[in-house]
Amino acid sequence: MRLARLALLSIEKAEKTCEDCPVKQGIHVGETRSVEVEGILGGKTFLITYIGMMQDNKKVFLRILEDITERRRAEDELRESEEKYATLVENSLTGIYIDQDGKIVFANHRFAGIYRYPREELLEIETWRLVHPEDRPLTNQIRLKRLAGEEAPPEYEARGLTKDGDTIWINRRNTRIEYKGRPAILGNIVDITEQKQAEEELRKINEELKNFIHIVSHDLKTPIISIQGFAARLLKNYQEKSGDKGRNYLERINSSACRMEMLISDLLALSKIGRVASTFEDVSALEIVKEVISNLQYRIKENGIEVVMPPGLPVIYADQARIYQVFENLLVNAIKYMGNTKNPRIDIGCEDRGNFHRFYVRDNGSGIDPQYHQKIFEMFYRLKETRAEDGTGLGLAIVDRIVRNHGGKVWVESEKDKGAAFYFNLPKKKMESDLSRNCHSKSP
Ligand code: ADP
Repeated sequence: MRLARLALLSIEKAEKTCEDCPVKQGIHVGETRSVEVEGILGGKTFLITYIGMMQDNKKVFLRILEDITERRRAEDELRESEEKYATLVENSLTGIYIDQDGKIVFANHRFAGIYRYPREELLEIETWRLVHPEDRPLTNQIRLKRLAGEEAPPEYEARGLTKDGDTIWINRRNTRIEYKGRPAILGNIVDITEQKQAEEELRKINEELKNFIHIVSHDLKTPIISIQGFAARLLKNYQEKSGDKGRNYLERINSSACRMEMLISDLLALSKIGRVASTFEDVSALEIVKEVISNLQYRIKENGIEVVMPPGLPVIYADQARIYQVFENLLVNAIKYMGNTKNPRIDIGCEDRGNFHRFYVRDNGSGIDPQYHQKIFEMFYRLKETRAEDGTGLGLAIVDRIVRNHGGKVWVESEKDKGAAFYFNLPKKKMESDLSRNCHSKSP
Protein backbone atom coordinates (compact mmCIF):
# COMPACT_ATOMS: atom_id res chain seq x y z
CA MET A 1 0.00 0.00 0.00
CA ARG A 2 2.74 2.37 1.00
CA LEU A 3 4.60 1.76 -2.24
CA ALA A 4 1.49 2.33 -4.27
CA ARG A 5 1.28 5.85 -2.94
CA LEU A 6 4.87 6.74 -3.85
CA ALA A 7 4.84 9.64 -6.23
CA LEU A 8 8.47 9.82 -7.27
CA LEU A 9 11.68 8.01 -6.74
CA SER A 10 14.83 9.73 -7.85
CA ILE A 11 18.53 9.71 -7.20
CA GLU A 12 20.51 12.90 -6.64
CA LYS A 13 24.20 13.37 -6.50
CA ALA A 14 25.20 14.25 -2.97
CA GLU A 15 27.87 16.89 -3.58
CA LYS A 16 25.54 18.91 -5.82
CA THR A 17 22.74 19.37 -3.38
CA CYS A 18 24.13 19.22 0.13
CA GLU A 19 25.07 22.87 0.58
CA ASP A 20 21.67 24.30 -0.29
CA CYS A 21 19.57 21.79 1.68
CA PRO A 22 19.97 21.54 5.45
CA VAL A 23 17.94 18.29 5.55
CA LYS A 24 20.39 16.42 3.47
CA GLN A 25 23.41 17.82 5.20
CA GLY A 26 25.18 15.23 7.28
CA ILE A 27 23.13 12.23 6.09
CA HIS A 28 25.44 9.27 6.15
CA VAL A 29 25.23 6.32 3.86
CA GLY A 30 22.44 4.05 5.03
CA GLU A 31 20.82 6.87 7.00
CA THR A 32 17.26 8.08 6.34
CA ARG A 33 15.86 11.54 6.93
CA SER A 34 12.42 12.89 6.10
CA VAL A 35 10.89 16.29 5.68
CA GLU A 36 7.31 17.32 5.15
CA VAL A 37 6.68 20.01 2.58
CA GLU A 38 3.35 21.77 2.29
CA GLY A 39 1.81 23.79 -0.49
CA ILE A 40 3.71 22.49 -3.50
CA LEU A 41 2.43 21.11 -6.81
CA GLY A 42 -0.98 22.73 -6.49
CA GLY A 43 -1.22 22.96 -2.72
CA LYS A 44 -0.38 19.35 -1.91
CA THR A 45 1.61 18.05 1.04
CA PHE A 46 4.56 15.78 0.37
CA LEU A 47 6.80 13.74 2.58
CA ILE A 48 10.27 13.76 1.15
CA THR A 49 12.52 11.03 2.44
CA TYR A 50 16.24 10.97 1.69
CA ILE A 51 18.32 7.84 2.02
CA GLY A 52 22.08 8.19 1.85
CA MET A 53 23.66 5.51 -0.38
CA MET A 54 26.66 4.75 -2.57
CA GLN A 55 26.48 4.51 -6.33
CA ASP A 56 29.53 4.07 -8.50
CA ASN A 57 31.68 4.84 -5.43
CA LYS A 58 29.91 8.12 -4.99
CA LYS A 59 27.56 9.19 -2.26
CA VAL A 60 24.07 9.82 -3.57
CA PHE A 61 20.63 10.30 -2.07
CA LEU A 62 17.69 8.22 -2.94
CA ARG A 63 14.80 10.66 -2.79
CA ILE A 64 11.32 9.33 -2.17
CA LEU A 65 8.52 11.74 -2.75
CA GLU A 66 5.27 10.70 -1.16
CA ASP A 67 1.94 12.54 -1.56
CA ILE A 68 0.46 12.61 1.94
CA THR A 69 -2.15 15.32 1.34
CA GLU A 70 -5.11 12.99 2.08
CA ARG A 71 -3.47 11.42 5.12
CA ARG A 72 -2.70 14.84 6.61
CA ARG A 73 -6.22 16.08 5.92
CA ALA A 74 -7.73 13.03 7.62
CA GLU A 75 -5.36 13.47 10.57
CA ASP A 76 -6.21 17.17 10.82
CA GLU A 77 -9.92 16.39 10.74
CA LEU A 78 -9.52 13.74 13.41
CA ARG A 79 -7.51 16.10 15.61
CA GLU A 80 -10.06 18.87 15.16
CA SER A 81 -12.93 16.55 15.98
CA GLU A 82 -11.07 15.18 19.01
CA GLU A 83 -10.39 18.71 20.19
CA LYS A 84 -14.06 19.57 19.69
CA TYR A 85 -15.20 16.58 21.75
CA ALA A 86 -12.60 17.26 24.41
CA THR A 87 -13.86 20.87 24.70
CA LEU A 88 -17.45 19.64 24.84
CA VAL A 89 -16.66 17.09 27.55
CA GLU A 90 -14.65 19.60 29.56
CA ASN A 91 -17.32 22.28 29.37
CA SER A 92 -20.20 19.88 29.93
CA LEU A 93 -22.65 20.74 32.70
CA THR A 94 -22.88 17.07 33.55
CA GLY A 95 -20.13 14.99 35.12
CA ILE A 96 -18.57 12.56 32.63
CA TYR A 97 -16.36 9.63 33.58
CA ILE A 98 -14.97 6.34 32.33
CA ASP A 99 -14.84 3.40 34.68
CA GLN A 100 -12.62 0.51 33.67
CA ASP A 101 -12.05 -2.51 35.91
CA GLY A 102 -13.90 -0.68 38.69
CA LYS A 103 -11.57 2.31 38.60
CA ILE A 104 -11.97 5.85 37.30
CA VAL A 105 -9.73 6.20 34.27
CA PHE A 106 -11.19 9.46 33.01
CA ALA A 107 -13.17 12.21 34.73
CA ASN A 108 -14.09 15.64 33.43
CA HIS A 109 -13.89 18.87 35.37
CA ARG A 110 -17.57 18.77 36.43
CA PHE A 111 -17.33 15.20 37.70
CA ALA A 112 -14.42 16.15 39.96
CA GLY A 113 -16.39 19.21 41.13
CA ILE A 114 -19.46 17.14 42.05
CA TYR A 115 -17.42 14.74 44.19
CA ARG A 116 -15.19 17.61 45.44
CA TYR A 117 -11.96 15.81 44.50
CA PRO A 118 -8.90 17.31 42.80
CA ARG A 119 -9.02 15.75 39.36
CA GLU A 120 -5.67 13.99 39.53
CA GLU A 121 -6.73 12.31 42.79
CA LEU A 122 -9.76 10.81 41.09
CA LEU A 123 -7.79 8.89 38.50
CA GLU A 124 -7.34 5.26 39.43
CA ILE A 125 -9.68 5.67 42.44
CA GLU A 126 -12.05 2.69 42.89
CA THR A 127 -15.53 3.71 41.76
CA TRP A 128 -17.24 2.11 44.79
CA ARG A 129 -15.60 4.73 47.00
CA LEU A 130 -17.75 7.38 45.32
CA VAL A 131 -21.00 5.57 46.15
CA HIS A 132 -22.94 5.67 49.42
CA PRO A 133 -22.48 2.29 51.21
CA GLU A 134 -26.21 1.50 51.08
CA ASP A 135 -26.35 2.05 47.31
CA ARG A 136 -23.17 0.13 46.44
CA PRO A 137 -24.96 -3.20 45.77
CA LEU A 138 -27.38 -1.46 43.39
CA THR A 139 -24.76 0.47 41.41
CA ASN A 140 -22.47 -2.54 41.22
CA GLN A 141 -25.27 -4.76 40.00
CA ILE A 142 -26.18 -2.29 37.24
CA ARG A 143 -22.48 -1.86 36.33
CA LEU A 144 -21.98 -5.62 35.97
CA LYS A 145 -25.15 -6.04 33.94
CA ARG A 146 -24.16 -3.18 31.66
CA LEU A 147 -20.73 -4.71 31.08
CA ALA A 148 -22.27 -8.09 30.36
CA GLY A 149 -24.65 -6.45 27.88
CA GLU A 150 -27.65 -7.52 29.96
CA GLU A 151 -30.77 -5.46 30.47
CA ALA A 152 -30.34 -2.74 33.08
CA PRO A 153 -32.09 0.60 33.70
CA PRO A 154 -30.65 3.22 31.31
CA GLU A 155 -30.93 5.88 33.99
CA TYR A 156 -31.15 5.65 37.76
CA GLU A 157 -30.72 7.59 40.97
CA ALA A 158 -28.31 6.64 43.73
CA ARG A 159 -26.54 8.38 46.57
CA GLY A 160 -22.89 9.31 46.21
CA LEU A 161 -20.14 10.20 48.68
CA THR A 162 -17.97 13.29 48.32
CA LYS A 163 -14.31 13.42 49.34
CA ASP A 164 -15.32 15.02 52.65
CA GLY A 165 -17.87 12.26 53.30
CA ASP A 166 -21.06 14.19 52.49
CA THR A 167 -23.95 12.30 50.95
CA ILE A 168 -25.11 13.64 47.58
CA TRP A 169 -27.86 12.48 45.23
CA ILE A 170 -26.74 11.53 41.76
CA ASN A 171 -28.73 10.81 38.62
CA ARG A 172 -26.69 8.44 36.44
CA ARG A 173 -26.90 7.38 32.86
CA ASN A 174 -24.23 5.03 31.60
CA THR A 175 -23.34 2.85 28.70
CA ARG A 176 -20.78 0.19 27.76
CA ILE A 177 -17.90 1.29 25.51
CA GLU A 178 -14.52 0.05 24.31
CA TYR A 179 -11.79 2.14 25.87
CA LYS A 180 -8.23 1.53 24.78
CA GLY A 181 -9.32 -1.77 23.36
CA ARG A 182 -11.08 -3.06 26.47
CA PRO A 183 -14.66 -2.86 27.82
CA ALA A 184 -15.44 0.05 30.08
CA ILE A 185 -18.39 2.09 31.34
CA LEU A 186 -18.93 5.61 30.06
CA GLY A 187 -21.08 7.49 32.57
CA ASN A 188 -22.91 10.73 32.71
CA ILE A 189 -23.95 12.13 36.07
CA VAL A 190 -26.03 15.04 37.37
CA ASP A 191 -26.03 16.24 40.96
CA ILE A 192 -29.70 16.26 42.00
CA THR A 193 -29.12 16.79 45.74
CA GLU A 194 -30.90 20.15 45.85
CA GLN A 195 -33.83 18.84 43.85
CA LYS A 196 -34.12 15.84 46.19
CA GLN A 197 -34.03 18.07 49.26
CA ALA A 198 -36.71 20.33 47.76
CA GLU A 199 -38.88 17.29 46.95
CA GLU A 200 -38.51 16.01 50.49
CA GLU A 201 -39.41 19.45 51.91
CA LEU A 202 -42.45 19.60 49.65
CA ARG A 203 -43.50 16.09 50.63
CA LYS A 204 -43.28 17.01 54.31
CA ILE A 205 -45.18 20.27 53.85
CA ASN A 206 -47.89 18.42 51.89
CA GLU A 207 -48.11 15.76 54.55
CA GLU A 208 -48.36 18.38 57.31
CA LEU A 209 -50.96 20.30 55.34
CA LYS A 210 -53.07 17.22 54.78
CA ASN A 211 -52.83 16.26 58.45
CA PHE A 212 -53.65 19.83 59.41
CA ILE A 213 -56.78 19.89 57.23
CA HIS A 214 -57.79 16.52 58.60
CA ILE A 215 -57.32 17.53 62.25
CA VAL A 216 -58.94 20.93 61.81
CA SER A 217 -61.90 19.44 59.98
CA HIS A 218 -62.40 16.87 62.73
CA ASP A 219 -62.01 19.36 65.57
CA LEU A 220 -64.32 21.86 63.94
CA LYS A 221 -67.09 19.36 63.45
CA THR A 222 -67.77 18.87 67.16
CA PRO A 223 -68.53 22.52 68.05
CA ILE A 224 -70.61 22.91 64.89
CA ILE A 225 -72.75 19.95 65.82
CA SER A 226 -73.28 21.53 69.31
CA ILE A 227 -74.30 24.85 67.72
CA GLN A 228 -76.78 23.04 65.46
CA GLY A 229 -78.13 21.03 68.38
CA PHE A 230 -78.61 23.98 70.74
CA ALA A 231 -80.07 26.19 68.00
CA ALA A 232 -82.58 23.43 67.24
CA ARG A 233 -83.48 23.14 70.95
CA LEU A 234 -83.92 26.88 71.32
CA LEU A 235 -86.18 26.87 68.27
CA LYS A 236 -88.28 24.06 69.67
CA ASN A 237 -88.46 24.95 73.37
CA TYR A 238 -88.41 28.76 73.32
CA GLN A 239 -90.57 29.50 70.27
CA GLU A 240 -92.95 31.80 72.17
CA LYS A 241 -90.30 33.75 74.01
CA SER A 242 -87.97 34.30 71.07
CA GLY A 243 -90.59 35.92 68.82
CA ASP A 244 -90.33 36.28 65.01
CA LYS A 245 -87.01 38.07 65.07
CA GLY A 246 -85.45 35.56 67.47
CA ARG A 247 -86.76 32.65 65.38
CA ASN A 248 -85.32 34.21 62.25
CA TYR A 249 -81.93 34.61 63.92
CA LEU A 250 -81.97 31.03 65.17
CA GLU A 251 -82.88 29.74 61.72
CA ARG A 252 -79.99 31.70 60.27
CA ILE A 253 -77.62 30.32 62.91
CA ASN A 254 -78.82 26.84 62.03
CA SER A 255 -78.41 27.24 58.27
CA SER A 256 -74.93 28.77 58.72
CA ALA A 257 -73.96 25.86 60.93
CA CYS A 258 -75.29 23.45 58.28
CA ARG A 259 -73.22 25.15 55.59
CA MET A 260 -70.18 25.03 57.82
CA GLU A 261 -70.74 21.32 58.42
CA MET A 262 -71.06 20.71 54.69
CA LEU A 263 -67.84 22.60 54.04
CA ILE A 264 -65.98 20.64 56.68
CA SER A 265 -67.28 17.31 55.33
CA ASP A 266 -66.10 18.24 51.83
CA LEU A 267 -62.71 19.40 53.13
CA LEU A 268 -62.39 16.14 55.03
CA ALA A 269 -63.26 14.14 51.92
CA LEU A 270 -60.71 16.10 49.89
CA SER A 271 -57.96 15.65 52.48
CA LYS A 272 -58.55 11.90 52.57
CA ILE A 273 -57.90 11.41 48.84
CA GLY A 274 -54.29 10.41 48.38
CA ARG A 275 -53.73 10.29 52.17
CA VAL A 276 -55.94 7.37 53.05
CA ALA A 277 -55.05 4.38 50.88
CA SER A 278 -57.67 3.36 48.36
CA THR A 279 -58.87 -0.20 48.06
CA PHE A 280 -59.01 -1.05 44.41
CA GLU A 281 -61.16 -3.96 43.32
CA ASP A 282 -63.51 -4.98 40.53
CA VAL A 283 -66.77 -3.18 41.12
CA SER A 284 -69.92 -2.79 39.09
CA ALA A 285 -70.36 0.79 37.84
CA LEU A 286 -74.02 -0.08 37.24
CA GLU A 287 -74.59 -0.93 40.90
CA ILE A 288 -72.82 2.24 42.03
CA VAL A 289 -74.87 4.49 39.74
CA LYS A 290 -78.12 2.75 40.71
CA GLU A 291 -77.37 3.35 44.39
CA VAL A 292 -76.54 7.03 43.83
CA ILE A 293 -79.78 7.52 41.89
CA SER A 294 -81.78 5.73 44.54
CA ASN A 295 -80.33 7.97 47.26
CA LEU A 296 -81.11 11.08 45.22
CA GLN A 297 -84.58 9.82 44.22
CA TYR A 298 -86.40 12.42 46.28
CA ARG A 299 -84.58 15.39 44.68
CA ILE A 300 -84.91 13.89 41.20
CA LYS A 301 -88.66 13.47 41.57
CA GLU A 302 -89.12 16.83 43.23
CA ASN A 303 -87.52 18.52 40.23
CA GLY A 304 -89.37 16.34 37.69
CA ILE A 305 -86.09 15.14 36.15
CA GLU A 306 -85.93 12.20 33.76
CA VAL A 307 -82.78 10.12 34.31
CA VAL A 308 -81.73 8.00 31.35
CA MET A 309 -79.07 5.30 31.54
CA PRO A 310 -78.18 2.13 29.62
CA PRO A 311 -79.11 -1.31 30.97
CA GLY A 312 -75.43 -2.18 31.39
CA LEU A 313 -72.38 -0.34 32.65
CA PRO A 314 -68.94 -1.95 32.86
CA VAL A 315 -67.24 -3.57 35.78
CA ILE A 316 -64.37 -1.29 36.73
CA TYR A 317 -61.21 -1.69 38.75
CA ALA A 318 -61.68 1.12 41.25
CA ASP A 319 -62.23 2.27 44.81
CA GLN A 320 -65.98 1.80 45.12
CA ALA A 321 -66.64 4.48 47.76
CA ARG A 322 -64.67 7.10 45.86
CA ILE A 323 -66.32 6.38 42.51
CA TYR A 324 -69.67 6.55 44.29
CA GLN A 325 -68.66 10.05 45.37
CA VAL A 326 -67.72 11.01 41.80
CA PHE A 327 -71.13 9.99 40.43
CA GLU A 328 -72.90 11.54 43.42
CA ASN A 329 -71.18 14.93 43.03
CA LEU A 330 -71.78 15.02 39.27
CA LEU A 331 -75.45 14.01 39.64
CA VAL A 332 -76.08 16.44 42.51
CA ASN A 333 -74.62 19.23 40.35
CA ALA A 334 -76.71 18.19 37.35
CA ILE A 335 -79.82 18.47 39.56
CA LYS A 336 -78.68 21.69 41.27
CA TYR A 337 -77.79 23.53 38.09
CA MET A 338 -80.79 22.44 36.02
CA GLY A 339 -82.18 25.98 36.00
CA ASN A 340 -85.67 26.43 34.52
CA THR A 341 -85.29 23.84 31.81
CA LYS A 342 -88.62 22.65 30.39
CA ASN A 343 -87.97 18.92 30.12
CA PRO A 344 -85.11 18.37 32.58
CA ARG A 345 -83.13 15.29 31.73
CA ILE A 346 -79.89 13.65 32.86
CA ASP A 347 -78.08 11.06 30.73
CA ILE A 348 -75.54 8.72 32.28
CA GLY A 349 -73.42 6.35 30.22
CA CYS A 350 -70.11 4.91 29.25
CA GLU A 351 -68.13 4.62 26.02
CA ASP A 352 -65.52 1.97 25.39
CA ARG A 353 -62.30 3.76 24.44
CA GLY A 354 -59.84 0.88 24.15
CA ASN A 355 -57.55 1.22 27.13
CA PHE A 356 -60.07 3.09 29.20
CA HIS A 357 -63.75 3.59 29.93
CA ARG A 358 -65.18 7.00 29.27
CA PHE A 359 -68.13 7.75 31.59
CA TYR A 360 -70.38 10.73 31.18
CA VAL A 361 -73.08 12.57 33.11
CA ARG A 362 -74.92 14.93 30.81
CA ASP A 363 -77.71 17.37 31.66
CA ASN A 364 -79.77 19.88 29.70
CA GLY A 365 -79.56 22.54 32.40
CA SER A 366 -77.99 25.98 32.68
CA GLY A 367 -74.65 25.01 31.10
CA ILE A 368 -71.23 26.61 31.66
CA ASP A 369 -69.47 29.26 29.59
CA PRO A 370 -66.32 27.65 28.05
CA GLN A 371 -64.09 30.27 29.73
CA TYR A 372 -64.85 28.60 33.09
CA HIS A 373 -64.34 24.98 32.01
CA GLN A 374 -60.98 24.68 33.79
CA LYS A 375 -61.72 27.01 36.69
CA ILE A 376 -64.71 25.07 38.01
CA PHE A 377 -62.40 22.18 38.97
CA GLU A 378 -60.40 24.44 41.29
CA MET A 379 -61.07 24.43 45.03
CA PHE A 380 -63.83 26.85 46.15
CA TYR A 381 -64.47 28.10 42.61
CA ARG A 382 -68.17 28.73 42.00
CA LEU A 383 -69.86 30.57 39.18
CA LYS A 384 -71.79 33.63 40.33
CA GLU A 385 -74.72 33.18 37.95
CA THR A 386 -75.38 29.56 38.93
CA ARG A 387 -74.38 29.74 42.58
CA ALA A 388 -76.63 27.37 44.50
CA GLU A 389 -77.35 27.67 48.21
CA ASP A 390 -76.10 24.21 49.09
CA GLY A 391 -72.67 24.35 47.49
CA THR A 392 -69.13 24.61 48.80
CA GLY A 393 -67.14 24.89 45.57
CA LEU A 394 -65.36 21.67 46.45
CA GLY A 395 -67.52 19.10 44.64
CA LEU A 396 -65.67 19.14 41.32
CA ALA A 397 -62.24 19.50 43.01
CA ILE A 398 -63.05 16.24 44.81
CA VAL A 399 -64.15 14.61 41.54
CA ASP A 400 -60.95 15.76 39.82
CA ARG A 401 -58.71 14.44 42.59
CA ILE A 402 -60.47 11.06 42.80
CA VAL A 403 -60.37 10.53 39.03
CA ARG A 404 -56.69 11.50 38.86
CA ASN A 405 -56.01 9.15 41.76
CA HIS A 406 -57.48 6.39 39.59
CA GLY A 407 -55.11 7.31 36.74
CA GLY A 408 -57.82 9.06 34.71
CA LYS A 409 -58.97 12.58 33.90
CA VAL A 410 -62.17 14.58 34.02
CA TRP A 411 -63.39 17.46 31.87
CA VAL A 412 -66.55 19.24 30.84
CA GLU A 413 -68.07 20.04 27.47
CA SER A 414 -70.69 22.72 27.64
CA GLU A 415 -71.98 26.08 26.51
CA LYS A 416 -73.98 28.57 28.45
CA ASP A 417 -77.72 27.68 28.52
CA LYS A 418 -77.07 24.51 26.51
CA GLY A 419 -76.57 21.95 29.27
CA ALA A 420 -73.32 20.41 30.47
CA ALA A 421 -71.65 17.05 29.82
CA PHE A 422 -69.05 15.92 32.35
CA TYR A 423 -66.72 13.16 31.10
CA PHE A 424 -64.21 11.11 33.00
CA ASN A 425 -61.82 8.41 31.80
CA LEU A 426 -60.95 5.43 33.96
CA PRO A 427 -58.13 3.14 32.78
CA LYS A 428 -58.95 -0.54 32.35
CA LYS A 429 -56.43 -2.40 34.42
CA LYS A 430 -57.53 -5.96 33.84
CA MET A 431 -60.14 -8.24 32.35
CA GLU A 432 -60.21 -6.16 29.16
CA SER A 433 -62.58 -8.40 27.24
CA ASP A 434 -65.06 -8.92 30.07
CA LEU A 435 -65.24 -5.24 30.74
CA SER A 436 -65.86 -4.09 27.20
CA ARG A 437 -68.60 -6.69 26.78
CA ASN A 438 -70.62 -4.92 29.46
CA CYS A 439 -69.90 -1.48 28.12
CA HIS A 440 -72.60 0.45 26.31
CA SER A 441 -70.60 1.69 23.36
CA LYS A 442 -71.54 4.85 21.49
CA SER A 443 -68.31 5.33 19.61
CA PRO A 444 -67.87 3.70 16.20
P1 ADP B 1 -70.55 23.66 44.16
O1 ADP B 1 -70.52 23.23 45.55
O2 ADP B 1 -70.66 25.14 43.98
O3 ADP B 1 -71.56 22.92 43.36
P2 ADP B 1 -68.65 22.36 42.46
O4 ADP B 1 -67.16 22.27 42.59
O5 ADP B 1 -69.40 21.08 42.46
O6 ADP B 1 -69.12 23.31 43.60
O7 ADP B 1 -68.95 23.12 41.12
C1 ADP B 1 -68.28 24.33 40.83
C2 ADP B 1 -69.16 25.22 39.99
O8 ADP B 1 -69.32 24.68 38.70
C3 ADP B 1 -70.57 25.35 40.52
O9 ADP B 1 -70.66 26.39 41.49
C4 ADP B 1 -71.34 25.69 39.27
O10 ADP B 1 -71.26 27.08 39.04
C5 ADP B 1 -70.59 24.97 38.17
N1 ADP B 1 -71.24 23.69 37.80
C6 ADP B 1 -70.93 22.47 38.25
N2 ADP B 1 -71.69 21.52 37.66
C7 ADP B 1 -72.52 22.17 36.84
C8 ADP B 1 -73.56 21.75 35.93
N3 ADP B 1 -73.90 20.47 35.78
N4 ADP B 1 -74.19 22.71 35.21
C9 ADP B 1 -73.83 24.01 35.33
N5 ADP B 1 -72.87 24.46 36.16
C10 ADP B 1 -72.22 23.56 36.90
